[in-house]
Amino acid sequence: MAWFRKKNLTALTPSSKKKEMPAGIWTRCEQCERYITNVELLRHLKICPHCGHYHLMSARERLDITVDPGSFEEQDAYLESLDPLQFDGYPEKIRKARERTQLREAAIWGTATLNEHPIVFAAIDFRFLGGSMGSVVGEKITRAMESAQEMRRPVVIASAGGGGARMHEGMLSLMQMAKTSAAVARLRRAAVPFISIITHPTMGGVAASYAALGDVIIAEPGALIGFAGPRVIEQTIGQSLPSGFQRAEFLLAHGMIDIVAPRSEIKPLVGKLLKHLTAGVFFQRESLCSIRAGELVAT
Ligand SMILES: [Zn+2]
Repeated sequence: MAWFRKKNLTALTPSSKKKEMPAGIWTRCEQCERYITNVELLRHLKICPHCGHYHLMSARERLDITVDPGSFEEQDAYLESLDPLQFDGYPEKIRKARERTQLREAAIWGTATLNEHPIVFAAIDFRFLGGSMGSVVGEKITRAMESAQEMRRPVVIASAGGGGARMHEGMLSLMQMAKTSAAVARLRRAAVPFISIITHPTMGGVAASYAALGDVIIAEPGALIGFAGPRVIEQTIGQSLPSGFQRAEFLLAHGMIDIVAPRSEIKPLVGKLLKHLTAGVFFQRESLCSIRAGELVAT
């Protein structure tokens, strides 16, 4: 047989199995698809060093980059969601989310310091059922605000509630919008500042309640923020939406948020805001009016 007809003589046959990167060590960038070690990604605050894509941060990671090391004292860590409506599959979803995130619920809150300013801090974890606001998340946010009012400490909340209200808890979940908004109103009457940090993605009932009611609202670049998603809006109004619609920069241009700040600048920025907002004897309400976002970013 002629040599060119002979097949499979080479020992170097390509493996049919695709090699997988070991889990837990590498992350594949969602945008540029390059692999980065988790350690390196964390060192860059979970921003891809190749293309600048912002990866999601867990509530604990957000806590670590925002408050002073070792200053956080968690409160109400034991609060857990029940299944009040006996929604099909909800307990199983909760169980899996707990396993995956090592959290009992999508929100954590506690007291801390930020650049040595005493604050109350809360963060929402998107990995826990999309960071959706069920009864426990609403309760934790409300308790954070009520405690802040009692202690006269500013509140800083980092939201990532892409799921909005939690459908598995129906009306009880929707009521959290009113409850948290009322807590913000009481904070405002007591002249206790509330700084809202909105991260990608923050939609639905979270964006439509406390997250949009901060005295100062800071968003990360490119964050998706809105109520209904763009596809739903397009289908409803029968028109295509402008480019960048519901992104942080679009909302800044239209006066819905105050500042778009890179992740690395959020802590120093909040530190400056706290310095200004707590300069009065009892956080005088007038002090809020004298701040212009541009000045703070520039200084
Ligand atoms: Zn990338």
